[in-house]
Amino acid sequence: MTAKFSTKHEHCPENNLESALEYALQRVRVVLVGTTHGGNIGASARALKTMGLSRLILVQPKAKLDAEAFSMASNALDVMDNMQRFDDLDAALMGCHWVIGASARLRDRPHELMSTRQMAEYARRNWLMNPQLPQAEIALVFGREHSGLSNVELGRCHAHMMIPANPVYSSLNLAQAVQIACYELRQALLGDTPLPSLESPPPATHDALENLLQHWQTTLHELEFLDPQHPRHMMQKLRSLLQRAQITPNEVDILRGMLTAVQRKIRNTGHNHDA
Ligand code: SAH
Repeated sequence: MTAKFSTKHEHCPENNLESALEYALQRVRVVLVGTTHGGNIGASARALKTMGLSRLILVQPKAKLDAEAFSMASNALDVMDNMQRFDDLDAALMGCHWVIGASARLRDRPHELMSTRQMAEYARRNWLMNPQLPQAEIALVFGREHSGLSNVELGRCHAHMMIPANPVYSSLNLAQAVQIACYELRQALLGDTPLPSLESPPPATHDALENLLQHWQTTLHELEFLDPQHPRHMMQKLRSLLQRAQITPNEVDILRGMLTAVQRKIRNTGHNHDA
C-alpha cells in the first residue's frame, strides 16, 4: 500500500508558532496494532484530533469500524476518513526515522525506556523541531487491548515509552494511553506558549469614571446618604474601588442607568432634599 499522507515539506515555517506546531504534528503517525474494539479506534481518532494530530494507522485491526467506532470518534471523522490500514508493522513504519512503542509493562530493554513526557521532549528536540532534520517523521506504536505489543513488534521500536501509572495497576485503556502520549507531545512542542486569551474590552476611560463618580455623588446627595458639606473620603474610596475593578464602558452605562432610575424614584416620591 502506498502512503496516503503527504507532509508539506516544501513549506517548513519557522516564525509562526501555530504553523510550526502543525507542521511538526503532521510528521507524527500513531499506529494501533491488532486493535480489537472499534470504540477504541474511534476514541483514538478523537484523541489525535484534540491534540492536533491527524495520522492514524491500523495494523491488522481485529475490530470493525462499526457504529460504536464512529460514535466514539465524535467530530474526528476526518481522522477516521484519512486512516490507513496495513497488513504488517514494517509497512506502516515506512519512511519513519524514530519509532517508539508504548508498553504498560517493563520489558528487558531498560536503557531504552522513557516516560511519555521524556519521549515527547526527546521527539521535540531530536526529530520534530530539529532544524537539522526538518522532514523527520516519527511513529508512536500502541498494542492490543489484551496482550499489548509482541516482543517482535517492540523490537522494531527504537525506544519504549511507559505512562508512569500506578505500579499495581498500570494498564490504561488503549485510547486513553493514546490521548496521554499525544497530549505530552503537544505540550512539549508548545513549551511555554501562553493560552490564547479572549479579547477583553478596554476598561472605561478616566473621564467616563469621573462622570460616573459625579453622577454617583449627586444621587447620594439626593438620597441624603452623603452630606455635601462633609463628604469625607467617601468619593475617593469609591474612585479607588472603580479603578481597582477596571470596569468597562458597558458596565459604566449599567451603573449610570441604575443611578438614573434611583434619581427618578426619589424625584417622583418627593424625597429630594433639594425640593
Ligand atoms: N494488557 C496489555 C496492556 C494493553 S493496553 C499488556 O499488559 O501489555 C493497550 C495498549 O495501551 C498497550 O499495548 C500500550 O500500547 C498502551 N498502554 C496502556 N497502558 C500503558 C502505560 N501505562 N504505558 C504505556 N502504554 C500503555
